Amino acid sequence: MRRVSFPYMGTSYIPFEKLITAFGNEVVVPQRPTEETISYGTKYAPEFACYPFKIVLGTYIQALKAGANTLVSSGGVGPCRAGLYTTLQEKILKDLGYEFEMIVLEPPGRHLKDLMHNIKKLINTRLTLRDYLNIGRFTWKQLVLLDKVERLSHKTRPLEVKKGESTQVYKKCVELIAGAEEYKDLTDIERETQQLYDAIEKRDYDPIKIGIVGEIYVLMEPSSNLEIEEILGELGVYVERSMFLSGYTISNAVMDLFHMAGERDAKKMAAPYFKEMCGGHGRESIGNSIIFAKRGFDGIIQLSPFTCIPEIVAKSILPKVCKEHGVRFLTISLDEQTGKEGLRTRLEAFVDLLMAKRKKTKPVKVKSLVAKEMA
Ligand code: SF4
Repeated sequence: MRRVSFPYMGTSYIPFEKLITAFGNEVVVPQRPTEETISYGTKYAPEFACYPFKIVLGTYIQALKAGANTLVSSGGVGPCRAGLYTTLQEKILKDLGYEFEMIVLEPPGRHLKDLMHNIKKLINTRLTLRDYLNIGRFTWKQLVLLDKVERLSHKTRPLEVKKGESTQVYKKCVELIAGAEEYKDLTDIERETQQLYDAIEKRDYDPIKIGIVGEIYVLMEPSSNLEIEEILGELGVYVERSMFLSGYTISNAVMDLFHMAGERDAKKMAAPYFKEMCGGHGRESIGNSIIFAKRGFDGIIQLSPFTCIPEIVAKSILPKVCKEHGVRFLTISLDEQTGKEGLRTRLEAFVDLLMAKRKKTKPVKVKSLVAKEMA
């Protein structure tokens, strides 16, 4: 029997586990990255490898040790190193003596035949068309709901009266969603999660607003960015991330399949400054920074894995972009050496700077955003 594992990124393991189990496989759920994961990654990855490569490699080692015999990964295109990720990781792991099959799911727009062939390898039970529709409907709803409760945590955290309450509610919501068995459970849970967030006592306060842009893995996996969203929220900042997995899936799987430009708005906005594709999400970092600036955000934080080429290019363009759009920005470079206390100090200084600037501008009511999301 296939014992399947995959990279750990945010809460995505919850719908992936459901999906792969429903396809007739056993799942070895990947561990949330810890110091051990990173130490495996740094030990066996080439020195030049970027941080997400090391974390994912460490995760694979832990999954193989836990009994996985199949690893599933998304592919990558473009001139950065993402396209080589899985080939290199497979080679390193096989040289270490692990026996497994690596299944790479490439973007459908360019490799549809390969993608279908590889998905077939993961279907190891007899399923009817109705089963496929039910599985797809359930996992998509789960994914969307997980993103929704995370967004709500970003909106309520800076307003909470009791410190840490939004984080507790968020964890409870994730647990509820993970425990759902049927589609109907998810609609009931959606209502319940809204009630949980409604019940949090909130201050009448207009927080500083910061948009977070950057490379996908460090954006979406809190252990890799040292829980930056939580730190900022507890400093009283409303945080909005430029990328969530449900939106990313639509942009990069559904739209790619029909050869439509994914993340169209961000790329269009970036075009006057950054026209060429350079892999990763460098162009989107520029485009999303402009979108945040136009929406009245006070500041931008760019999350960049150390040595990430697309984000280095974006970083060199951001000073001009942010100056022209009247918004401050801060780049955080992340690797295994980055410490949480140092990060907190930098964030506090950045928030102080934005507060000083805010005194001259008209605040935007975040309460209305919370109400809109709840509606
Ligand atoms: S986008 Fe950056 S972090 Fe990701 S593979 Fe490319 S260079 Fe590495």
